[in-house]
Amino acid sequence: MIPVGAHTPSDQPLVEAAARNADLVQIFLSSPQSWKKPNPRADAEELKKASLPIYVHAPYLINVCADNNRVRIPSRKILQETCDAASEIDAVAVVVHGGHVTGDGPQEEGITRWRKALEALDTEMTVLIENTAGGDKAVARRVEWIKKLWEEIGEFGVGFVLDTCHSWAGGEPFEELVERVMDATGRIDLVHANDSKDPFDSRRDRHQNLGQGECPTEALAATIAAAGAPVVVETPGGAEEQAADIEWVRSIL
Ligand SMILES: [Zn+2]
Repeated sequence: MIPVGAHTPSDQPLVEAAARNADLVQIFLSSPQSWKKPNPRADAEELKKASLPIYVHAPYLINVCADNNRVRIPSRKILQETCDAASEIDAVAVVVHGGHVTGDGPQEEGITRWRKALEALDTEMTVLIENTAGGDKAVARRVEWIKKLWEEIGEFGVGFVLDTCHSWAGGEPFEELVERVMDATGRIDLVHANDSKDPFDSRRDRHQNLGQGECPTEALAATIAAAGAPVVVETPGGAEEQAADIEWVRSIL
C-alpha cells in the first residue's frame, strides 16, 4: 500500500493527519516566506515517537541557484537549519525547490551552485529536490535540465519530488513523464499530487483540488499511480477538501 497524506498546518500535525485520514503529513518548520530559522518544537518527542511519517517542506524563498549572494548564502543556511530541525523530529526527508539562475549567466551555473550547496550541507537528513513550475533558467523545471542536474549532484544521494501541478504548468507533458524522470534521476521519492488552476506551460504555480483543474484527469491519475512513491496532496481548502483529495488518490492507485 502506498501511503497518501497532505501538507497540513504545522502546529498539530498528528491531529491534522487524523482529520484527513492521512497516512503521512508534510509540514513547514518555519515560515515559508521567511529567513528566520525554525524554532525548537515543544512536541518534538511526541512527533519522534509517532508512527506517522513526517516530511518537512523547506521555505519557498530558498534559491541556492540565485546570483545574488544575499539570497544564495541565506538559502544554504536555512536549508541546513531546516535539515537540523527536521532531524530533531525524526522526519523522513526535507523537500526543497530546485531554484533558478537569476542573472545573465548561463543556466549551468545553477547546477554548479547546487553542487556547492550540497558540498557545504552537513546532515544525515535526506534532501529531496522538487520540480518547479516557473523560473527562466530553472534547474528542475524541464526534465532535460533535471537530467543535467542529476549528472552533477546524483552522487550526493539527494532524492526527487515530482509535483504534478508544477510539471504541467512548467510545460512537461504527462506522456511518459515518470519514465523520463526515472531516466533522469533514477528515483522518485515523493509525489506532490496537485491539479493546476492554470493551463499547460503557463509557468504559474497555483494548485487546485484533484480532478477540478486544468490537468487532463486521466493522465494526471496515471502519472500519480505510475510514480509508485508516497503521495502528498498540497491542495486548497481545509481538512475536508484534502481528505477528499486523499481518497481520490487512493481510488486511482
Ligand atoms: Zn509541491
